[in-house]
Amino acid sequence: MDSPVVRRRRLGNPLSWRMADRCYAIALLLTVTTFLIGTAQAFGGWPFLPPESNAADVIGFNVMAVLAWATLAFVARASRASEGDGIVLAIATVVLYAITLAAFTLFTGPFGAPGWIGFLGGAVIGYVVFPRWVSLGGTFIYVTLVIVGAVAIAEGVFDGTLLGPAARTVRVDTDAIVRGAVSTLLMSGLTFVIIMWIIDRWRDREARFERLATTDPLTGVANRRLLFDVSRRELARSRRYGTPTSLIIIDLDHFKSINDRFGHLVGDRALSHAAEVLGEAIRDADMISRYGGEEFGILLPMTDLDGAYEVAERCRTRLAERPFQANGDNVTITASLGVASTIKEGDVDELLRRADDALLRAKALGRNRTERA
Ligand code: GH3
Ligand code: MG
Ligand code: MG
Repeated sequence: MDSPVVRRRRLGNPLSWRMADRCYAIALLLTVTTFLIGTAQAFGGWPFLPPESNAADVIGFNVMAVLAWATLAFVARASRASEGDGIVLAIATVVLYAITLAAFTLFTGPFGAPGWIGFLGGAVIGYVVFPRWVSLGGTFIYVTLVIVGAVAIAEGVFDGTLLGPAARTVRVDTDAIVRGAVSTLLMSGLTFVIIMWIIDRWRDREARFERLATTDPLTGVANRRLLFDVSRRELARSRRYGTPTSLIIIDLDHFKSINDRFGHLVGDRALSHAAEVLGEAIRDADMISRYGGEEFGILLPMTDLDGAYEVAERCRTRLAERPFQANGDNVTITASLGVASTIKEGDVDELLRRADDALLRAKALGRNRTERA
């Protein structure tokens, strides 16, 4: 059997899961939780709820809630493989949570502890795993439903039979509800603002570390580590779906002479210039990285050798056409490029080795040219 460590690695970090996976996990968890709470309520045996909310006549609602969560879990699971950002699933998850929790809050008495815990817990988790506006929207829907529902019951708009015994027996007047709503919202608002502030700082820090770990500080493009990580993922996709992945390795020509003529600082600026020109010559789906000192690597997902050669030639000509300004001089920077492509077989090292071989050939054949593996 797997060791727990292996199993954990397979699950990965939930914060880097795709949206459909997050929604699936949450929907699954809530299917189970709703089922357990519903069963306990039906049999009067849930010790943490006010006794009057434990009754068989909320079973209709609980069955609907379990079915809704199970359906969402099913849909989320089915869409895990699809592209797209999963924003519709995220909204569905948050709205369903707001609705089911609002009903639960009304069963157990508005502004009571169970609803309050579900509200703060949901708001915090939602704020971490979903886009900000989605979780804030869910919070708004929940608060509105609870206040409107409680007032409607207090005013006798409906007798609350649908909502079970708590709504029927705990008679509250509208004044009390408004007072309860104001104080609850003030308290939860303050708590929530503090928690959001902390989460935002923490997200910023995460993003900064991520950037530091994956970006080349001089040129601002991806570093070698990120190129390898993304290449491995793309090659796995290639093997699975039989699509091509290509790699271009670029080495600037006679770069030492630029350093010798103008000094290292100007050489650094020339590298940034080259990264900028190359970055503008590729497509959004392609990834440029600083592979070594004056070497760049470009990963081209879903691109065959001919397509990659075309991109490489565009990079080469753009670079040669856009001279670099060094102390008032126009300095033309040229590069030699090696292109390799793979379908199905071969790992990252193999792809790199072949692109490197092609690059060496481009150097040997006189530089400022592109060779294919
Ligand atoms: P060729 O590739 O055409 O054979 O000649 P080259 O002069 O570019 O070859 P080589 O690979 O031997 O030298 C690379 C030079 O790039 C050496 C080094 O001084 C310079 N270089 C590498 N990294 C940096 C950097 O970060 N900043 C600056 N200014 N220069 C760098
Ligand atoms: Mg070099
Ligand atoms: Mg060089």
